Amino acid sequence: MLVLRLREASATPGVRACGRRDASPDLTISSLLLVNTGGYIEAVLDRNLAENISRVLYPNDNFFEGKELRLKQEYFVVAATLQDIVRRFKSSKFGCRDPVRTCFEIFPDKVAIQLNDTHPALAIPELMRILVDVEKVDWDKAWEITKKTCAYTNHTVLPEALERWPVSMFGQLLPRHLEIIYAINQRHLDQVAALFPGDVDRLRRMSVIEEGDCKRINMAHLCVIGSHAVNGVARIHSEIVKHSVFKDFYELEPEKFQNKTNGITPRRWLLLCNPGLADTLMEKIGEGFLTDLSQLKKLLPLVNDEALIREVAQVKQENKLKFSAFLEKEYKVRINPSSMFDVHVKRIHEYKRQLLNCLHIITLYNRIKKDPAKACVPRTVIIGGKAAPGYHLAKKIIKLVTSIGDVVNHDPIVGNRLKVIFLENYRVSLAEKVIPAADLSQQISTAGTEASGTGNMKFMLNGALTIGTMDGANVEMAEEAGAENLFIFGLRVEDVQALDQKGYNAQEYYDRLPELRQAVDQIRDGFFSPSEPDCFKDIVSMLLYHDRFKVFADYEAYVACQAQVDQLYQNPKEWTKKVIRNIACSGKFSSDRTITEYAREIWGVEPSDLQIPTPNIPKD
Ligand SMILES: *Cc1c(COP(=O)(O)O)cnc(C)c1O
Repeated sequence: MLVLRLREASATPGVRACGRRDASPDLTISSLLLVNTGGYIEAVLDRNLAENISRVLYPNDNFFEGKELRLKQEYFVVAATLQDIVRRFKSSKFGCRDPVRTCFEIFPDKVAIQLNDTHPALAIPELMRILVDVEKVDWDKAWEITKKTCAYTNHTVLPEALERWPVSMFGQLLPRHLEIIYAINQRHLDQVAALFPGDVDRLRRMSVIEEGDCKRINMAHLCVIGSHAVNGVARIHSEIVKHSVFKDFYELEPEKFQNKTNGITPRRWLLLCNPGLADTLMEKIGEGFLTDLSQLKKLLPLVNDEALIREVAQVKQENKLKFSAFLEKEYKVRINPSSMFDVHVKRIHEYKRQLLNCLHIITLYNRIKKDPAKACVPRTVIIGGKAAPGYHLAKKIIKLVTSIGDVVNHDPIVGNRLKVIFLENYRVSLAEKVIPAADLSQQISTAGTEASGTGNMKFMLNGALTIGTMDGANVEMAEEAGAENLFIFGLRVEDVQALDQKGYNAQEYYDRLPELRQAVDQIRDGFFSPSEPDCFKDIVSMLLYHDRFKVFADYEAYVACQAQVDQLYQNPKEWTKKVIRNIACSGKFSSDRTITEYAREIWGVEPSDLQIPTPNIPKD
């Protein structure tokens, strides 16, 4: 089995066909601030043109940047992979050296190509080219083989993330593939026209080729047409895929559409990163959960077990002390290890709503300042994540977090009660340190925007409670653990859609909610950026006038929900019981379960009963 991977690299600090103005003609991307990779790619390129293709990957997060080098990279990986697959097939006992037609009939039984997003979509025309041009298979047979071999996983519903290559650029680089795509599209549209006679608008909506000032190839449409299975990565996301993103395609071929809820590996995200917790659990329920995570439900009868509650709380405290020591050693930052560790780590993006978290921090700060004598639950808010190099507003969000920290962390009236830490260079090795130390996991995307999330699962497995919206896999986490064991707040997908119908007006919330208004005014007026008072004007005008992600609409519910978090945190025993219940119910979110489902339901393979030989490790 082969999963074609060409995910973007994580962010660190050619030819252009069609200007960027029409990159997304039907969209108002907030301030249209993502221009390009910010010179980052150009800076690392050198005169060695051939090496450049695999030197550096585009670090965008949920954004399509139609650069020629990226198209070359995508074709490079696809071409190399397909040559390897076809060579292996032909040299196996199923292949034959002569290009006899029947050879390729069993190809889909022996090969599965899982298109992990649209980045390797060229595998579809490339396989067609190999079968038709090189192996002399007739078109219809080749198309059947291609469809049976390929399957497509969708990873986002944000329209600005969908790959739509300009036909002019594509044709210069891959003229034969363009011909093949046109031929695929012609047959596809003929089929649609036969089923929906006279429905010209449907043909336009379903075409692989988008007409307009700049003709473009819609790679997601190509993937759906060229695959026998299409899946989303969480139940709610797969429903959105069927009923909005690919609605017309679902009406044409409903049987293609599936769900495969994402998972995480319990070896890395429990055993390796949190040995203290893994040991505690193994003592109680054995080690079977490491290869069959559903066995964590053996903890359910032990939720009220005093010894387990004590040990789980103690492991968390040790992890918090360890992380505090790490921050002090590496960054000379001191935090209060007895405060609540409120953690929001993920790529910086408007849809993930780090700004909603900022508004809550400012609200807590203003409440302390207003009534300094009033008792409150001490919090350390930890925000971390990379911004894509050209995503100006995401960079500004980081600047806002550190600016809020500069004010809050040095205010003597606040003291130890509230600290704000920005974790730079967030990456897997840092995630492995911070997640086991978290008390609270922030998963607060606008409902309908986070396809699944996997950070949410890592926190659940490591004994943090979730504050989150009914989005992505949060929905299934709430179903597994019981919604009363998470802190769920805010608009549901239906509410978001209804608000869109009615017209979202941020000003209403600003006018009605005094604490929101105070926080927004402070950001706007330079309270957190005294040496540069206009620094955050762009953020505020986005929030007030063109916020696609409706931050203000969820503010009131979020702040109220955070108050419930504080209340429970004051009762450590009840808090830890919920933690144990969450861990016990996190078994569904193992990647072992996910992969088994892909194998059975998409690739048509069952586990082999081959025994793995036990290595003979000499005892010392
Ligand atoms: C798991 C993980 C992510 C994904 O986090 P989400 O909260 O699901 O967006 C991103 N970056 C790193 C380093 C991770 O480990």
